[in-house]
Amino acid sequence: MTQTFSSRAVGAASATAPLAPLSIQRREPGPNDVQIEIHYCGICHSDLHQVRDEWKSVMPTVYPCVPGHEIVGRVARVGAAVTKFNVGDMAAVGCMVDSCRTCANCKSGQEQYCVALPTFTYNFPDKHLGGVTYGGYSEAVVVDESFVLRVPAGMDPARAAPLLCAGITTYSPLRHWKVGPGHKVGVVGLGGLGHMAVKLARAMGAHVVLFTTSERKRADALQLGAHEVILSSDSAAMTAQLGTFDFVLDTVSAPHDLNAYLEQLKLDGSMVLVGAPAEPVPLGVFSLLFKRRRLAGSAIGGIRETQEMLDFCAKHGLAADIELIPASKLDQAYARLLKGDVKYRFVLDVKSLS
Ligand code: NAP
Ligand code: ZN
Ligand code: ZN
Repeated sequence: MTQTFSSRAVGAASATAPLAPLSIQRREPGPNDVQIEIHYCGICHSDLHQVRDEWKSVMPTVYPCVPGHEIVGRVARVGAAVTKFNVGDMAAVGCMVDSCRTCANCKSGQEQYCVALPTFTYNFPDKHLGGVTYGGYSEAVVVDESFVLRVPAGMDPARAAPLLCAGITTYSPLRHWKVGPGHKVGVVGLGGLGHMAVKLARAMGAHVVLFTTSERKRADALQLGAHEVILSSDSAAMTAQLGTFDFVLDTVSAPHDLNAYLEQLKLDGSMVLVGAPAEPVPLGVFSLLFKRRRLAGSAIGGIRETQEMLDFCAKHGLAADIELIPASKLDQAYARLLKGDVKYRFVLDVKSLS
């Protein structure tokens, strides 16, 4: 039987319960494992979707649910066969802790598209202990070194944490669709993902336009790197640039009108959905037929690409803009996320669990 140790954590006992302290078991590190003392964990809107069981038709939640997949901390112990990490290193874990490693997608470094599905960091069957995996709203995590990332030297660890999901989820499609100089890029929604998309697309050399429902975010968006801001309720502004965008990245967490953004694309332009509202969204096919537009989705990113993104951020001096909160403010943070009131990622200070 696998040996375990206890770790303090915060989780939900049901879809309606507040987040509350609990104790979870972690496996004792095996030969290839790294044990991380977690310092910071970013709070992704996916945590909220999962905790509240909003994705029940696709990924039903198993309770208690300990969310968190934007993890940064210090290596506390390493297994005998670990080669990439030493005790004391700063390390990070994102949305996956394992995958089959043998399918074509895993072999090409796209573990997020593993044909057998990757082992997600929380709410996914735990191969070692049974039950489900528990995420980063906790003091410790044990992960195979192949799924642990290096935090570049000099990067603020609290501001680095959100890169592990918000960063890679926006970096990966921007890279896949080869966004760069000469491209006009729309980012829809200025939350955790959206604000990283603005920073990354700007650093990649694109002309960046933010679409937002929140007039109050205009000044911040320009300061974060957007060249222009369009309020989506301003119909004159929404029609002024129709048919002129090369690429639109939609990060919105709730149902909304996709067609209004598809119509911003020029001939052969692509719109990529990363936001994951639970409900189906209506699609007017003429928004695609005219101008041969494409609509696609994208999920997080592979491990190699996640390291590349962290190194890209270090090189360009990029990190998330955060509000650091103690565990006692988690429910309040979730309520604010639902109102779009985020500047621009909440990060849990894991010290507050002790
Ligand atoms: P977030 O911080 O809450 O930001 C979402 C933003 O969407 C809000 O700040 C708001 O921006 C906008 N918004 C919210 N409700 C809206 C509505 N009804 N209509 C129009 N705009 C609205 O969320 P996040 O953490 O960035 O996550 C965004 C989505 O991506 C979530 O659904 C999450 O589950 C998903 N996600 C997907 C992946 C993936 O792999 N594909 C990875 C991580 C997260 P404005 O105020 O600017 O309008
Ligand atoms: Zn996430
Ligand atoms: Zn695989």
